[in-house]
Amino acid sequence: MKKIHLIRTREVDTEVYDAIVQYLKQFSGPMTFFGYDESFEISGNAVRVIQKTDEDFEDMEMPVMEMTSHYLISDELRIELNPPKVDLFEWDDLFRVARKFRKEKRVADSELVFVLTYKGNENNWFVGSAPKGVKDFFVHLLYWEHYIMSEPTFPVAYHVAATVLKNDVWGSIEQYLPDTHDHPIGCMSDMCQYKPDVIYKLRTADICTDCKNKMIASGVDRSLFLQVLRVFDSVRSQLLFRERFEILNELPKMLLYPAQLRLVFPELNGLTISLRPVQFAVYWFFINRPQGILLSHVDEYFDELLNLYRQCSPGTDPDVQRSVIDTLCNLQDQTLSQNMSKIKKLIKQNLGEEIGEHYMILGRNGGIKSISISRDRVEVILPNNAP
Ligand SMILES: [Zn+2]
Repeated sequence: MKKIHLIRTREVDTEVYDAIVQYLKQFSGPMTFFGYDESFEISGNAVRVIQKTDEDFEDMEMPVMEMTSHYLISDELRIELNPPKVDLFEWDDLFRVARKFRKEKRVADSELVFVLTYKGNENNWFVGSAPKGVKDFFVHLLYWEHYIMSEPTFPVAYHVAATVLKNDVWGSIEQYLPDTHDHPIGCMSDMCQYKPDVIYKLRTADICTDCKNKMIASGVDRSLFLQVLRVFDSVRSQLLFRERFEILNELPKMLLYPAQLRLVFPELNGLTISLRPVQFAVYWFFINRPQGILLSHVDEYFDELLNLYRQCSPGTDPDVQRSVIDTLCNLQDQTLSQNMSKIKKLIKQNLGEEIGEHYMILGRNGGIKSISISRDRVEVILPNNAP
């Protein structure tokens, strides 16, 4: 087993982070991922503050590839992105977070620590590796929407998996760097100094013959290699689905598994969104009510919600179950709207805004809230029917 700790710096949204951790945990194999509720502060002082503007991205030329013409982000979408202000830190400040985490949690040297961050770094790299074989890394979470049509979930998962494999084969950044490809060839070792080239690497999701030979020579762990390839394949299919969606406009089918608290998208390579019991009950409730409801009337549905929640939390004390739904139906408490907002963000991180909005519980303030996806694209799989 290879233990991989994914941590986040303070400013990273929980939902962005949770979606990445959840996504990576879907792939079985020696890489075992650990996520944490707490976030970590960078202790150094920012070198400077940078703010990219949408114009910075407009002038970029996307790499030309065969068989693609539809992946480019539309001009309309570009302008809405408005990148935030970002503090830029020195290289080592980003790794200090990982060192502090290691000390606090007594993490063994052989385990890997990835710091997921919005903070910038001096070299403007997506991924940074600590020197001399120390297994600390950082991955930058911003700007992905500009380079590829995706939330950070998939490109970040790709880079985490690729970095684990590279670290396993080459051992350190010093040994790995000379073997990177300056000119992009669609291999995981592409340098992608010119940022838009990264789309080529993610869409190809391949490893070139030179790199493969190196892996064989290093005696790479076959099961690790296969697990990394499964991540690559999945990332690739998520990106391709988004591109095809622009043309075909067919929404992916969604399966609800109440016993596992999961939403699963078989056509998206089994993409899975995990919810907490109360979130799942709320989501299931709205799926059962395609016409939607007025939130101000939610208490009228107490029994229905309680019944669904019981199926999502079978081992829980009935009194506790009742009080959870009581709180949910008490609108002064905001629990319902907070949970709905969490679900919405998780869906956005996994499906993107354009596809995701069909699966979100939406509606104007004070108006009817509903999920718009056609119910013939949705199926609830009850425990006795689950595989
Ligand atoms: Zn290569």
